[in-house]
Amino acid sequence: MAPAIIEALHKAVDEMAVKETFRGYAPDLGYDFLRNAIVENDYKARGCDISADEIFVSDGAKSDSGNIQEIFGPDCKIAVCDPVYPVYVDSNVMAGRTGTYNATTETWSDVIYMPTTAENNFVPAFPETTPDLIYICCPNNPTGTTLKKSELQAWVDYANEKGAVIIYDAAYEAYISEDDVPHSIYQCEGAKTCAIEIRSFSKNAGFTGVRLGFTVVPKELKCGEVSLNAMWARRHGTKFNGAPYIVQRAGEAVYSPEGKAQLKEQVAYYMKNASTIKKGLADAGYEVYGGVNAPYIWLKTPEGMTSWEFFDHLLEKANVVGTPGSGFGPSGEGYFRLTAFGQYENTLEALERIKAL
Ligand code: PLP
Repeated sequence: MAPAIIEALHKAVDEMAVKETFRGYAPDLGYDFLRNAIVENDYKARGCDISADEIFVSDGAKSDSGNIQEIFGPDCKIAVCDPVYPVYVDSNVMAGRTGTYNATTETWSDVIYMPTTAENNFVPAFPETTPDLIYICCPNNPTGTTLKKSELQAWVDYANEKGAVIIYDAAYEAYISEDDVPHSIYQCEGAKTCAIEIRSFSKNAGFTGVRLGFTVVPKELKCGEVSLNAMWARRHGTKFNGAPYIVQRAGEAVYSPEGKAQLKEQVAYYMKNASTIKKGLADAGYEVYGGVNAPYIWLKTPEGMTSWEFFDHLLEKANVVGTPGSGFGPSGEGYFRLTAFGQYENTLEALERIKAL
């Protein structure tokens, strides 16, 4: 982890040892110092009018992206990009919202799958059936691809027109390098009446084991007369007792000048891995996607191998491990995900072994 974050952790731990500065239960929705830092840096700095009482601090984006469906009715129809982070579908399966499973097609009868593949340039088309909830992950895990501002704006317009809610997972926002890719859905006009945004400190700042994230639910976002901000505040406060003080202080350090500079370097390090993998594989004749605005490389498996066949091939012949695309949804079949979250030297070694296959 970056030195500025470690320093903030140590300082906060020391505060806990002294009666005068000890902190017990944190405010359910997050400490003001962190919520204000988020507003200033993630939203105001990008021209988004989001206020601190629209930010809900949590222990990470997995919990939030899995739990958010609880504030919606049991008969809501969900739409997901395919392939995508599996938590969206699985949490709705557990909530009993997805109908019956077809083991042959590996799909649920009541889920609307929106294929995002090389054929549509990884931009999902509007579905034929109107959904109530639309999950969009951007930059997308696993494809590493993004939506341009105009493409995301079209989804915001669609959601507002249909009365649907977009659950926008921007966990990989820090890796965006292209100017026309928005960092927040609230950079699109009208998003505050149709979108919830989920963020993580895991990818931009290495909080995978420390645990911190947040969700934005604008006050203007309503289903009928029901405020989703009030609903989520009640849900969050009932089932969650606040992210730890020491962790929130570490989160605050992410936004300090030192923290920002150190994390910029960290992100650049991983993105150097990403471009090295992408270029190396492309030179070796692989069809590769992603890796420009995200730390994932998405490759088409060679010679018509299934995702799992390629997994075995890579493991047995090169001793390299990656993630089979089919695990992220039916349209992930025939693809494979490689991560840039590794040491540069190991990345080079793995690449050489793949090229030698
Ligand atoms: N959202 C996406 C798209 C992810 O890929 C991940 C982690 O892999 C998460 C959320 C989880 O983030 P967190 O560590 O904050 O729970």
